[in-house]
Amino acid sequence: MSRIAYVNGRYLPHRAASVHIEDRGYQFADGVYEVCEVRGGRLVDERRHMARLQRSLTELRIPLPMPLPALSVVLHETVRRNRVGNGLVYLQVTRGVARRDFAFPSPEGSPSVVVTARRLDFASNEKRASDGMSVITVPDNRWERVDIKSVSLLPNVLAKQAAYDKGAREAWFVDHDGQVTEGASSNAWIVTADGKVVTRPAERGILRGITRTVLLDAIKAEGLKLEERPFTVAEAYAAKEAFVTSASQIVMPVVRIDGRPVGEGRPGRIAAALRTAFHRYAEFS
Ligand code: PLP
Repeated sequence: MSRIAYVNGRYLPHRAASVHIEDRGYQFADGVYEVCEVRGGRLVDERRHMARLQRSLTELRIPLPMPLPALSVVLHETVRRNRVGNGLVYLQVTRGVARRDFAFPSPEGSPSVVVTARRLDFASNEKRASDGMSVITVPDNRWERVDIKSVSLLPNVLAKQAAYDKGAREAWFVDHDGQVTEGASSNAWIVTADGKVVTRPAERGILRGITRTVLLDAIKAEGLKLEERPFTVAEAYAAKEAFVTSASQIVMPVVRIDGRPVGEGRPGRIAAALRTAFHRYAEFS
């Protein structure tokens, strides 16, 4: 079955789907994106993802390309046309096509919208979760507005590649104070020796992950001890458990940091329990 992509009002075969060379997303990374998990053919936490999309667009002064109910139809239709049961739907909105000039185009053009969807191999994800994964730490060399889910991801690309080059699957960014900010494409968490779940506050230095937000609800409802505070690399080395969260990985246990085993070097009990509990606290649409 050939994949279908939505591009600016049309559903097209993947190989024929393209945007103009002067799209500002291509020229300047002048755009934002969202990724939602698809589970059983339904979108997970669409409402929260769309609220964050609106916020990212507002911060960059890009107009919402269509009303949210219409965008929701496009997301669901792209999932349906690609027959995605379990997988991801990707949405990108850029400032649109204009002659190359740094300043915003005047008059303002229309934003470009692209939606794609793809299946994920459920079994291999579960296998990865039961094995756990390795992360490395790298200096956080990103701009300050990482709260915006911008397509400008070059530091994240380089960090992820550095991880892959070392046989790890994720890189954790570390700020000037030696504190972990977040992963290249995930939020970072540890569980301390006395069982407290710790993650950095989302006020500064990280993207406010939707999975993170929902997991905070789950942690409180499950009666676990929670501390929203920055943690250092040294604390992470000494942690009982570690894990990352993102729409594509949900809760993914981390078993090695910079080559050192976390706890006993196996996925932790709390991470595994939160992975199982997560979808009870998520919204489906
Ligand atoms: N932080 C970064 C830098 C990300 O790229 C992502 C997801 O891609 C996340 C955190 C997790 O966000 P979410 O849970 O909304 O997928």
